Amino acid sequence: MNASLNPVTRHDWTLTEVTALLQQPFNDLLFQAQTLHRQHFNANRVQVSTLLSIKTGACPEDCKYCPQSGHYNTGLDKEKLMEVQKVLDEAQRAKEIGSTRFCMGAAWKHPSAKDLPYVLEMVKGVKAMGMETCMTLGKLDQEQTQALADAGLDYYNHNLDTSPEFYGSIITTRTYAERLQTLSYVRDAGMKICSGGILGMGESIADRAGLLIQLANLPEHPESVPINMLVKVEGTPLANVDDIDPFDFIRMLAVARIMMPQSHVRLSAGREQMNEQMQALAFLAGANSIFYGEKLLTTGNPQADKDMQLFARLGIKPEAREEYADEVHQAAIEQAIIEQRDASLFYDAATH
Ligand code: SF4
Repeated sequence: MNASLNPVTRHDWTLTEVTALLQQPFNDLLFQAQTLHRQHFNANRVQVSTLLSIKTGACPEDCKYCPQSGHYNTGLDKEKLMEVQKVLDEAQRAKEIGSTRFCMGAAWKHPSAKDLPYVLEMVKGVKAMGMETCMTLGKLDQEQTQALADAGLDYYNHNLDTSPEFYGSIITTRTYAERLQTLSYVRDAGMKICSGGILGMGESIADRAGLLIQLANLPEHPESVPINMLVKVEGTPLANVDDIDPFDFIRMLAVARIMMPQSHVRLSAGREQMNEQMQALAFLAGANSIFYGEKLLTTGNPQADKDMQLFARLGIKPEAREEYADEVHQAAIEQAIIEQRDASLFYDAATH
């Protein structure tokens, strides 16, 4: 049996091994990934989350890909922290369109003492609606992490972005070690981790392998692994970087699936740039999570009804929480999508 098909969860991946996985013939790689995927998941189910930006723009960090960084002039409107009730109203709508997880993102270096109580109220309120909760708020200290866990937060999103070696070319205001420390606090507080990275920033194959090695060699694999494709935004330093080969993007999804066989691999930012065939290949490679919505924090995303049409054509159904019967869930989604078509309140997949 090929070692990469061994279902034992591993935390000792090496650069040589992962580079070889990334470079093997495309069909062999996809076959391995799909075979392993079927050992752990229903291959025709995709988990659906909604993400709302609860505070947009003017971030003090200098992530070179991010239109929300205050270091770059991208013409983005800056907003204060959204009111708790408004967030809860959005969460209710997300529930109605069939999302089982509601993710809230704030463009902060870290949450302030002034803002944290409001954030905790948001977590409690969304949780009370019966949805899973996820937040991305930047760096956390131990006390803040515990407060979020006590409020009932299920997931914390904090991406590693790229390899430790390439990281300094992308961000200078926060260290890789600080990111790992936040992830460790989150794990110690008993929450689930959502952590991934971004491709197409000019990184090498070794950097792509290095990112996956960091994630897979954590003491426990992140439950969610968002793999983002850079959305180039005018005004950011990466606005003119070369595109990633779409097949190389699919390869990364497949290798993430092989290395972290029990994690949800999320097809995340950049989905709007992908045609339906590429998205179908992504699902075949083992991606089994997407975001709903019309915006991706500040960038466009395919509309929810287009997603449902694609799901229908591929025979894919949204992964439902156990309390929903499939048909009821599906009908609720379809109805809500019709109502939702012109709304523009939802934001989508995060980088942070
Ligand atoms: S990715 Fe997050 S931390 Fe970095 S600039 Fe954007 S909002 Fe700030």
